[in-house]
Amino acid sequence: MAQENISVVLHGQGDLRLETRPVPEPGPEEALLQIHSVGICGTDVHFWQHGSVGDYVLTKPLVLGHEASGRVVKVGSAVKHLKVGDRVAIEPGVPREADEFCKTGRYNLSPTIFSCSLPPDDGTLCRYYKHSANFCYKLPDSVTFEEGALIEPLSVGIHACRRAGVTLGSTVLICGAGPIGLVCLLVAKAMGASQILISDLLPERLSVAKDLGADFQLEVKKDAGPQQLAKTVEDMMGDKPDITIECTGAESCIQTAIYATRSGGVVMMVGLGSEMTTLPLINATLREVDIRGVIRFCNTWPTAIAMLASGKLNVKPLVSHRFPLEEAIQAFDLALQGLGVKVMLKCDQNDQKP
Ligand code: NAD
Ligand code: ZN
Repeated sequence: MAQENISVVLHGQGDLRLETRPVPEPGPEEALLQIHSVGICGTDVHFWQHGSVGDYVLTKPLVLGHEASGRVVKVGSAVKHLKVGDRVAIEPGVPREADEFCKTGRYNLSPTIFSCSLPPDDGTLCRYYKHSANFCYKLPDSVTFEEGALIEPLSVGIHACRRAGVTLGSTVLICGAGPIGLVCLLVAKAMGASQILISDLLPERLSVAKDLGADFQLEVKKDAGPQQLAKTVEDMMGDKPDITIECTGAESCIQTAIYATRSGGVVMMVGLGSEMTTLPLINATLREVDIRGVIRFCNTWPTAIAMLASGKLNVKPLVSHRFPLEEAIQAFDLALQGLGVKVMLKCDQNDQKP
């Protein structure tokens, strides 16, 4: 085991550095992992650019990264279900206490939850990382490390589609064809949606969505009004969609989402925009359109692993670029430009395969 633990550390707004940190020692209920693949998320890029995300403000140097998989190199004395050599995917949110949310299975709502790469909790973009063993999930041989890392964004899609009630025959509008919109597309299809329309400003993102199975693609022009866009959606789909999954955070998109959704339907808010947003609430009220929120995920890793292992979900086409960990800064530069879909960092010097 190499000893140097190269880590991608954010020191302040715009100040991202590669530095060597000590290899951590796992506690009794933890596993030490040699990280293999880590996807760069929009949140990592936002942190780097702004030094904060919402209420989370950088107060000390922070290791970024939370979409990760790796190999077990050491386990704590109380760990029974993992052994050295196991390949695992990491669930980055670990509840710290058995509060009411944890007891009811909605641990993602626990206010004290540990969350990789959200201050003050360090993330996974390094060579060696320790994590709660209960939140490390064994990967079958048929599931690659990169698929394991992609379970994190995929979980956002699973949680959003579950909460939106996507089911056999649902018609779904997805606003935004970024990584999150695309995983919502994959999951909605797997859950049995009959028709999915996806919208974006960028034709290249819509073409990825088409390849992944979107039935309709709508290229949004910046000056198009929300009611006009809702009418276009209805014309293209033949009716208003049962469910809209909003994955942009843009005010005009949220407005479109409300106007476009069928009476009695659901608008699922995934995108995070500004704190205050003007919405056609009366329209939603009088048509009984439910507006629901999601914060990350809970209880999704076993489902995701089963779906990937069975081949019923394929996330591999989401990976557009790969960089060795040593070139993390270049990888972040590329992610900032919004090129491609998912940039993967390869953290194991001796195994840079998917
Ligand atoms: P992204 O920026 O890569 O993708 C957003 C897409 O929306 C882009 O392709 C962009 O072109 C498109 N877009 C922007 N304005 C638009 C408009 N007016 N009409 C149509 N398309 C438009 O981001 P992502 O990584 O895919 O994440 C999507 C959103 O989900 C972000 O706001 C992110 O913060 C949020 N998010 C929320 C959670 C949660 O737990 N709630 C988890 C992960 C991400
Ligand atoms: Zn993320």
